[in-house]
Amino acid sequence: MEPFKFIRVQDDQSAIRAALTIGTKFIAGGTNMLDLMKLNIEAPKQVVDINKLSLYQIEELPNGGIRIGALVKNSDLAYHPVIIKKYPVLSEALLSGASPQLRNMASVGGNLMQRTRCPYFYNTDFACNKRVPGSGCAAIDGYNRNNAILGTSDKCIATHPSDMCVAMAALGAIIKVQGPKGLRTIPFNEFHLLPGQTPHLEHSLRQDELITHVEIPPIPYATRSHYLKVRDRTSYEFALASAAVILDIQNGRIQHAHVALGGVGTKPWRAVLAEKVLTGAVANEQTYRTAAEATLSQAKGFKDNTFKIELAKRTLVRALTITGGMS
Ligand SMILES: Cc1cc2nc3c(=O)[nH]c(=O)nc-3n(C[C@H](O)[C@H](O)[C@H](O)COP(=O)(O)OP(=O)(O)OC[C@H]3O[C@@H](n4cnc5c(N)ncnc54)[C@H](O)[C@@H]3O)c2cc1C
Ligand code: SF4
Repeated sequence: MEPFKFIRVQDDQSAIRAALTIGTKFIAGGTNMLDLMKLNIEAPKQVVDINKLSLYQIEELPNGGIRIGALVKNSDLAYHPVIIKKYPVLSEALLSGASPQLRNMASVGGNLMQRTRCPYFYNTDFACNKRVPGSGCAAIDGYNRNNAILGTSDKCIATHPSDMCVAMAALGAIIKVQGPKGLRTIPFNEFHLLPGQTPHLEHSLRQDELITHVEIPPIPYATRSHYLKVRDRTSYEFALASAAVILDIQNGRIQHAHVALGGVGTKPWRAVLAEKVLTGAVANEQTYRTAAEATLSQAKGFKDNTFKIELAKRTLVRALTITGGMS
């Protein structure tokens, strides 16, 4: 690990002022940052501890939505009674991630910003365009069983690893950030970036901006929702494929559908094509299968991960069946 300056700030403005210094990184739970620093993948000149900021609240909004502070721990959010009741998909996604000890440390802001688990990204002996722009991608012709099948480019095929973000993508969350020029709002689907030709650019947050809150809009029918995660072992493992599903069904017909996929995309993947198929259709297996086929028609497999195309389809069909049943 490289030497760095460490400071602890007490309020948002001090955090933003500190971030004006080039080479600054915030630290919250530290569960991703410290690993990256120990492996010399990240070498910030200055680390700013933001844990004293007042960003720990989970508040119901007058419009029926909910505002979540960026420092709320993953476990506190998962077990919050309002989240369990109104947004079970979010609670289930959080509880499927990592381990209880990690969830007790991991923050909402840190989860949004966590970096890929591509093994070549973590091993500095290999070429990686995300770690060293222009150096190449060892995964494309290497061992790529866990890599992405949606949103890939010829420069990077790394998956986005978060479970929480998949639920938030389906819920259409809004990210509130604060910078030297004031407050800014980023719709969830604009926060994470596709790799394209610049895989080292992963999100639309600026260096001097702090995530302060995430807002979840009011979705009365989100009480009927589910997160399904398929992985090599049933705990302490990242997704091979996952699906977050919210369905509004009246008289056997789907009125509204929100769908997102995890473990398969280079960013939390809002499954717009599946939503189009589902909306207005009868809630049955044929509809669910057609929706899965539509979304995965965009997928491209690589040497070791082509199996994920069918796995993702089956994961989505099962998540839809559990959530919506059969008419
Ligand atoms: C062994 C292991 C297994 C895991 N398994 C899973 C899993 O199955 N599913 C899953 O979803 N996740 C998993 N994770 C990842 C875990 O969820 C993340 O490490 C965690 O959410 C990061 O949160 P943190 O508060 O510790 O972030 P930190 O490590 O403190 O920070 C991470 C990044 O976020 C930035 N940051 C933090 N807060 C803010 C803010 N408010 N504004 C701007 N930037 C900010 C930091 O600068 C840093 O770049 C696993 C992690 C480990 C170590
Ligand atoms: S897939 Fe992306 S993160 Fe993995 S080696 Fe290639 S460029 Fe690096």
